[in-house]
Amino acid sequence: MPEFSMPKTYDFHQVEQRLYEKWSDAGYFRPRLQPGRQPFVISMPPPNVTGELHLGHAMFVAMEDLMIRYHRMLGDPTLWVPGSDHAGIATQLQVEKDLLRTEERTREEIGREAFVERTWAWKARYGGMITRQLRRLGASCDWERERFTLDEGLSRAVREAFVRLYEKGLIYRGTYLINWSPGLKTAVSDLEVEYSEEQGRLYYFKYRIAGSEEFIPVATTRPETILGDTAVAVHPDDDRYRQWIGKTCLVPILKRTIPVIQDTYVDREFGTGALKITPGHDPADYEIGQRHGLPIVNLLNTDATMNENAGPYAGLDRYACRERLWADMQRAGLTIKTEPYQMQVPRSQRGGEVVEPMISTQWFVRMQPLAEPALQAVRRGEIRIVPERFTKVYFNWLENIRDWCISRQLWWGHRIPAWYCEDCEAMTVAREDPSRCSQCGSSNLRQDPDVLDTWFSSGLWPFSTLGWPVSTSDLRMYYPTSVMETGYDILFFWVARMIMLGLEFTGKPPFHTVYLHGMIRDSQGRKMSKTLGNVIDPLEVMDEFGTDALRLTLLTGSTPGNDINLSVDRVEGNRNFANKVWNATRLVVGSAGRAETEPLPPPERVLADRWILARAQQVVSEVNRLFHLHQYGEAGRQVYDYFWGEFADWYLELAKLQLEPQGATASGAAHSMAAVLDTCLRLLHPFTPFVTEEAWQRLREACQLAPHGYAPEGGWEEALIVAAWPRVSAESELDLQALASFQLVQQVISAIRNVRAERGIDPKARIPAWIAAGDEAALLEQERGALAALARLDPARLQIAARGIQPPPGAIPIVAANIEVFLMAEQPVDRVAERERLGRELTEAQEQVARLEALLDGPFAERAPAHIVEKERASLAFHQEAVRKLQDQLALLEG
Ligand SMILES: [Zn+2]
Repeated sequence: MPEFSMPKTYDFHQVEQRLYEKWSDAGYFRPRLQPGRQPFVISMPPPNVTGELHLGHAMFVAMEDLMIRYHRMLGDPTLWVPGSDHAGIATQLQVEKDLLRTEERTREEIGREAFVERTWAWKARYGGMITRQLRRLGASCDWERERFTLDEGLSRAVREAFVRLYEKGLIYRGTYLINWSPGLKTAVSDLEVEYSEEQGRLYYFKYRIAGSEEFIPVATTRPETILGDTAVAVHPDDDRYRQWIGKTCLVPILKRTIPVIQDTYVDREFGTGALKITPGHDPADYEIGQRHGLPIVNLLNTDATMNENAGPYAGLDRYACRERLWADMQRAGLTIKTEPYQMQVPRSQRGGEVVEPMISTQWFVRMQPLAEPALQAVRRGEIRIVPERFTKVYFNWLENIRDWCISRQLWWGHRIPAWYCEDCEAMTVAREDPSRCSQCGSSNLRQDPDVLDTWFSSGLWPFSTLGWPVSTSDLRMYYPTSVMETGYDILFFWVARMIMLGLEFTGKPPFHTVYLHGMIRDSQGRKMSKTLGNVIDPLEVMDEFGTDALRLTLLTGSTPGNDINLSVDRVEGNRNFANKVWNATRLVVGSAGRAETEPLPPPERVLADRWILARAQQVVSEVNRLFHLHQYGEAGRQVYDYFWGEFADWYLELAKLQLEPQGATASGAAHSMAAVLDTCLRLLHPFTPFVTEEAWQRLREACQLAPHGYAPEGGWEEALIVAAWPRVSAESELDLQALASFQLVQQVISAIRNVRAERGIDPKARIPAWIAAGDEAALLEQERGALAALARLDPARLQIAARGIQPPPGAIPIVAANIEVFLMAEQPVDRVAERERLGRELTEAQEQVARLEALLDGPFAERAPAHIVEKERASLAFHQEAVRKLQDQLALLEG
């Protein structure tokens, strides 16, 4: 009889890297073609090429790898395309910082060509780090197909896309009000601006009517923009100001004359009811200016200092100008008052600095014609967004979409393929670098210095990574992709743009499902930030508890679209789960050889075997159902509960008993243990790939070496990662009788355990019991061994009958599932002492109830935070329940 043994403890340090390399070397990450099966494809959201791993990466890897491993096990040709993003601003900033630190030089000092070269060198040095870290998370993506947004093929795709949109009139160059980031010295798109609520001031001042002492009062939060005003607007029905419409007034200090205009946009209730109009530095004013044909005055240089249009304030920083101008206006008697004001300050998502609306010549994509098909695709159900509530958000954004500013004044990125002729000023936009002007044939050409917004190239990601614009076999085979899985924070930045560009260039939605996961917060629900010091580093967590524990925590803690609060304690708990998997496997592997008994086969299955096998069938169906609903977290929780709560805690305990005597039931137990463990490891693999693969390899080896060992339907595959997903059985195959019978036995055992714990009976003591089981007497008699073992009853003094049981006086009565059980504690109950003990406990509980009732009746319930009040209420309910139970027990003692 062969003996199988495994190391006592699971050492993930020993396992994870080895298994990952093994999978990779065996080519399991490549799609395996199966005729007639629809491929399952995910394009990985490309992390920033020089970025470092954070929990957001861990989340998407865990979720996408789960889907990928599930489909691979289903036998679908499965492809996960990895890659990284050049991340224009982020990378350029890093290299600039490094340049300044190491050589004390700016990018302007070394020049564009040298700077770009340096950035490529930087990428070569640090670019591999993030992808190595993704491997550590267990990402089973096809690294042979790895792409980079700036590589040759993708650059070709970007240029093709740009030229096509330009030729269709969907890309244009124009001078408009854009968001200017003065520190980065580049335009940024609307999406890259975040509004933060901040305390500011509202400044009230006088707009003097030309040739008069009278004035219109106006308020602003940015006084320096007064210098760029080109009108004052009032509501046409406002009696206070109607007389001034058509007159002119004087810009303070500069004394430029500007008209007083009427516009129904003006809100008479807000501020003074009169608006200063600065079309050059405010989006709403820009619109009004367009309607009234007002001139636009730009006040700012690219570094946010004032330019010559600011007159005496030229050269000052915007904030210095604000102070100086206001002081001058005070002296001139033009100010009224200032007051504190809560305002929405636009800040750059990248640099955090205040963004200035500014007039500038940039490139734009006309979005409305692209948005329409993207709306249709979701409306018609060709693309489904999970969770569904984000569909509304998507519609709302696309229905109100504005043109997208795509040019950036950066050096790191895809350069705009437009050339200007120095001789005739014509512009040539071309796929290949032109040598001559398309108008006059001059070779005196200059390429547009700007690069494209990073999101332009990532918007092409699902098809550019498969070879587009070339019709490669990958493109034909794996496009459209299946699921786009990402955080809800980039629904607009990325997902909506991929849908628009995918439909425009390929005529097909780039994926049929968008799955959005939530953000990860700390255990108290706060955003993780360096300032709060609550950032959890996934690498540290993996070092301490293993990759599986981190993945399982992220996956089971998540529901689609909702934020998750991550606590390290929970990761530690899931490390214990990995150990539980290991220990259960050790037990099963250790017993694999015991199946070798006479007579063989067939193995005989007792009730517990039939029950755990039927439960396994139920769990498989349930997991499949939940997977189809994208309820991955709930599916994980169910397998976890089944594995720990039923398989390990109940079934393995009983199986150990069956193994002892040898024979057909031992063989049945050995087979059932192996079969259920095999199923569980398959179900758990997408959640915790490493421990399951390692355990499964041991199980497989033991079962194969044992004579007459268990073998799965269709035989053992070579590795769990490519093993078949458990088959869902038909409803009719389910052994309902075993389920019902065993659940009844479980109820009786649980009730006995509860009472033992309540009464403080020594958990190890084997005590006598009398059971009046009615119609279930035969069942309980058959399960006598299980009852005795799991409820710690004395088998020699366990009496089971249909009725007519005569328990001795003083026995403790229990009712479970209409079965009466009487227990006898070894020491006879000392009624007096027991009554005293119960009496004391009752008084204490009653005091608690009185105290909490008074507390919750008082002002506390209204003043205290809701969660504290809730806690006290729960405490009250708990003590009330205790009072009831203690009263019952006392009554029992009296009776
Ligand atoms: Zn020309």
